[in-house]
Amino acid sequence: MIIVMEHNATAEQLNRVVKYIENKGLQTQVNNGTVLNVVAVIGDKSGINAENIAAMDGVREIKKIQEPFKLVSRVAHPEDTVITFSNGVKIGGLEKPVLMVGPCSVEKDFDGLLKVAIAAKEMGCQFLRGGAFKPRTSPYDFQGLEEKGLQYLAKAREKTGLLVVTEVMDTMDIALLCQYADVLQVGARNMQNFKLLKALGRIKKPVMIKRGPAATIKELLLAAEYVVANGNPNVILCERGIKGFDNQYSRNTLDIAAIPIIRKYSHLPVIVDPSHGTGKRYLIEPMGKAALVAGAHGLMYEVHHDPDNAMCDGAQSLNIEQFKDVTRALNKVIGRIDYDNKNNPQTY
Ligand code: PEP
Ligand code: MN
Repeated sequence: MIIVMEHNATAEQLNRVVKYIENKGLQTQVNNGTVLNVVAVIGDKSGINAENIAAMDGVREIKKIQEPFKLVSRVAHPEDTVITFSNGVKIGGLEKPVLMVGPCSVEKDFDGLLKVAIAAKEMGCQFLRGGAFKPRTSPYDFQGLEEKGLQYLAKAREKTGLLVVTEVMDTMDIALLCQYADVLQVGARNMQNFKLLKALGRIKKPVMIKRGPAATIKELLLAAEYVVANGNPNVILCERGIKGFDNQYSRNTLDIAAIPIIRKYSHLPVIVDPSHGTGKRYLIEPMGKAALVAGAHGLMYEVHHDPDNAMCDGAQSLNIEQFKDVTRALNKVIGRIDYDNKNNPQTY
């Protein structure tokens, strides 16, 4: 941490700042510039409050040098985290990107879900997604089939071998979800539900945290820090679009730059969701390609056997034929990127 003093700060004000820091057991190094004096703070800063120092007389600004997230940062853990599932599928590092596909919500037509799952398997996808507990903006909208939906997902896994990703909305449901899911998804709306994040730190199953629509990348990484700091290192991040000023043509603004940024500052895998990121099915393919080229460790997108009649998010869901075409195109991109080459642009 660096403390920049005002150009007209007095020697007393500078001394007061230095004493304050040293009294907290930290070391200081004062650099006298021609215009400004600067105090470098050396040592563990967890016991000091930067906002309080910033408010002291004579202080112009505080510059934090270390990131506030620790366990999820590259500094603490330079190697990429790679998560391995029981069937050998891996996510992260230089592993080939994974594809997570399925309907927004699991609906009562099991055969529809199975058709999607069979097509997903055929196209080389590794995960079947589908919400059984749905976070809906309106309390009058379909809220999900709950345990019945989880049973459907497990049944589809049995028939196809696909792994299951599904959303957890409440700490009370974690034990139930662990019986059925391979990855527990924290939805964008719950990204800062700290009690939920802490509870997910106490399980072993991988957790995928979606970026909140108004969350910064730093806040996303701090959400992941909650899970890791509570004991679960198996965290996947998901960029799913943020609120921009222009929602005329797309639902959200998909932040492609977040992918290399996350990979620069964190060792955790990052997945991209172009369905929620754009709200339009025609944008899944171009945005999915962009995400892969930018270094995403996988994609999540919505597929429904009958999007026109979907209970949720039909407009951003592909039908099965469209899904096959899009996935063929995405698989071509995956095939062209040299993931074995340690010097490829996806290595940071
Ligand atoms: C979802 O993946 O079904 C979902 C609700 O996404 P998000 O939390 O990103 O809105
Ligand atoms: Mn959805």
